Amino acid sequence: MTHNKIDYHQAAADLALPCDAYIDGQYQPACSGDRFATISPIDGRILTQVASCDAADVDLAVASARRAFEDGRWRDMPPRQKKAVLHKLADLIETHSTELALLETLDMGKPISQSLSVDMAASSNTIRYYAEAVDKIYDEVAPTAHAALAMIRREPLGVVAAVIPWNFPLLMAAWKIGPALAMGNSVIVKPAEQSPLTALRLGELATQAGLPDGVLNILPGMGESAGQALGRHGDVDMIAFTGSTQVGKLFMRYAGESNMKRVSLECGGKSPHIIMPDCPDFDAAAKAAAFGIFNNQGQACNAGSRLLVQNDIREDFMQRVRQWAQKLIPGDPLDPQTRLGAMVDETQTLRVLDYIRIGQEAGARLTVGGQRILAETGGSYLAPTIFEDVQPEMQIAQEEIFGPVLATISFETLEEAIAIGNQTIYGLYAAIWTRDIETALEASRRLKSGVVCVNSYDGGDITTPFGGFKQSGFGRDKSLHALEKYADLKTVWIQTRS
Ligand code: NAP
Ligand code: MG
Repeated sequence: MTHNKIDYHQAAADLALPCDAYIDGQYQPACSGDRFATISPIDGRILTQVASCDAADVDLAVASARRAFEDGRWRDMPPRQKKAVLHKLADLIETHSTELALLETLDMGKPISQSLSVDMAASSNTIRYYAEAVDKIYDEVAPTAHAALAMIRREPLGVVAAVIPWNFPLLMAAWKIGPALAMGNSVIVKPAEQSPLTALRLGELATQAGLPDGVLNILPGMGESAGQALGRHGDVDMIAFTGSTQVGKLFMRYAGESNMKRVSLECGGKSPHIIMPDCPDFDAAAKAAAFGIFNNQGQACNAGSRLLVQNDIREDFMQRVRQWAQKLIPGDPLDPQTRLGAMVDETQTLRVLDYIRIGQEAGARLTVGGQRILAETGGSYLAPTIFEDVQPEMQIAQEEIFGPVLATISFETLEEAIAIGNQTIYGLYAAIWTRDIETALEASRRLKSGVVCVNSYDGGDITTPFGGFKQSGFGRDKSLHALEKYADLKTVWIQTRS
């Protein structure tokens, strides 16, 4: 059956929703018995009441993860076997992709077609990529003199806690779980309170794939309780965080005030998307500019939220971008034809509306959207929104809005575009459209960001590192480089002849 033939409303009504924490290979309620409601932004309905974990549950999960690590049940499993388990987990994500995609869509409002073709497809591909890496990564032998043998080995850190945002819930978890498990660590995942369901289901699928108990634990709960308790725990060796810059800074503080655990941070962005007058394809660039900001309802860390258009081509180019924005109307996330869905929740929707007001008050020109739509559904939906005549220092050009709001800024020269491009605290992502190789290379050298795309937006795949410069964080997800952050180097020096 093709996905288009499935009645997703019916399938959603029939779906079993996981609601307990997954610790030591089984579901269990929070020690306190507390629960929180997870609400669907599709229609404002309460989906289920999820276990609200706190420090006591963190202690249980850390103890389980620690036991699993120290007795070597996963770390010391032969590489071929480890690889088979991770492959099986990737298989299970694929065979359960409709169920998982529905959980994701119900929980955070993204269109079912995207949940399937982006989130689930990329999550299984991520786990599969790291499954393949398990028996292909070699350690090193140092070039010593004859009388010694020195090995430089990568050793797993131990207990890794992954704290995850709500915009790509399962995929962001997979970006951490894949390399952390491939290196032999035990993992605890704290999903965002807005979107815990897919991670909870993944815990059970991992056990089904043959991952030993305690190696992957899932702890739903609030950031200030479960998240903070992980960040401050004396027996957690590393925090792998994706989320806002503000909370990323808290995790550095938690680490400094506790056991100096390693911290890797994938944080926010305010990415510049630069259109030069020698752009090779204005239609493609306009479409990329629209999708670069409106995709996932603007809730993407690498959203092209600042569009920098050269003065001479501005009016013609913006006409094309406006047309896309008017065409991309959000609709029912459970309809397979829908391309834009609901915002994650009411709080985020109100936050974005507030930024739209701030932009108007600052004198930016609102040319498309700006309002809430589909209110009759009871859900949270916003029209794609474009601001033009934005000044680089305005709040809407400086702060991460995390919604479908584009800030358009004009410039005269490449020099000026690069200066404006770099004029924020962030440095996650950037793109430039030009025919000229010199312009492209100059921009790619001077834009301070972890990724620079040329003549595309959203380029990259699992083989390329992803992460930020500046206050977008440090440490990289994806690619073989991601493995490095889940290991420490150990030197073993063997004197063979005195
Ligand atoms: P967030 O508010 O920073 O939350 C991220 C995670 O941290 C959630 O699990 C959250 O739990 C937890 N948390 C919140 N406050 C905490 C605290 N005081 N102590 C410990 N943990 C705490 O981010 P979000 O709103 O979920 O996601 C949006 C942000 O993520 C954006 O800034 C976006 O740019 C960023 N992001 C970055 C990337 C990347 O790869 N660079 C990818 C995706 C998203 P709660 O559920 O309780 O809030
Ligand atoms: Mg939700």
